[in-house]
Amino acid sequence: MTPLRSIPCGRFAPSPTGPLHFGSLISALGSYLEAQARGGRWLVRIEDVDRPRCRPEYADDILATLEAFGFTWDGEVMFQSRRTARYREALEVLKRQGVVYPCGCTRAELAGAPLGIDGAPRYPGTCRDGLPPGKVARAWRLRVEGVVDFVDLVQGPQHQDLAREVGDFVLLRADGLFAYQLAVVVDDADQGVDHVVRGADLIHSTARQIHLQRLLGLPTPQYAHLPVAVDAAGAKLSKQTRAAPLDVRDPVPALVAAARFLGMEPPSCRLASAEFWAWARQSWCLDRVPRVMSLPLPDYSR
Ligand code: GLU
Repeated sequence: MTPLRSIPCGRFAPSPTGPLHFGSLISALGSYLEAQARGGRWLVRIEDVDRPRCRPEYADDILATLEAFGFTWDGEVMFQSRRTARYREALEVLKRQGVVYPCGCTRAELAGAPLGIDGAPRYPGTCRDGLPPGKVARAWRLRVEGVVDFVDLVQGPQHQDLAREVGDFVLLRADGLFAYQLAVVVDDADQGVDHVVRGADLIHSTARQIHLQRLLGLPTPQYAHLPVAVDAAGAKLSKQTRAAPLDVRDPVPALVAAARFLGMEPPSCRLASAEFWAWARQSWCLDRVPRVMSLPLPDYSR
């Protein structure tokens, strides 16, 4: 019997640590238009797994901004803060495989370790073969080995040696919260996401996510990492750097600028919102996205 082809599915997964800004609009627009072009569903997931950094009012604000900008998503919005039981199940599967171990190291103890690819200390392996005497379990780490290769639809072939470039990474944190890397893998699989379009700042996380998918027997989505907007000093626009929130009263200039940023050629910046969306749905082409990791933030305020 021929298996039923499943419906393509993309997603936008903001963390509610601040209002939406131009950088997040690029990911929202790229993932939305790609899902539409594939004739697929587009989901919104609020990534509030790191609760101390998130605020419910930002989640409301993000959803209201998406709506005001003319985005429509399929189904209910998923909240990671309600999914702890599923993350725990995944950790149990990994425990049974013997690929995770309790770690008693504190942040201060790791501070001197050489840095991994994402700028965090690379775990030196202190608790890898059992907790040394005097240490108590604080977190759970995944024992990593091997290399991960994948072809990113925008950035091209990628290769990462997990042990050398990242090291054993945390899945359950010392504060009892699950880590983003585990949550995102479980959620993408549970939601049937088959293509992930997001900012290139996350490309170095992808090998970890593919490694986890393989251990958990989950399918690997296709990945497309879009350039991120950087300020004059080359720093990524982020809520942490207080990037200006989007103006919900006047969405089109920001939408047009985001479309240009992604390699599209909007006919004018004076479109009505419905005209913008009709044009954008017809004109989107992932192949036109600039194949670079970052681009300067355009000034669309004038
Ligand atoms: N929640 C992440 C962020 O806001 C995005 C994660 C993802 O798309 O995988 O940066």
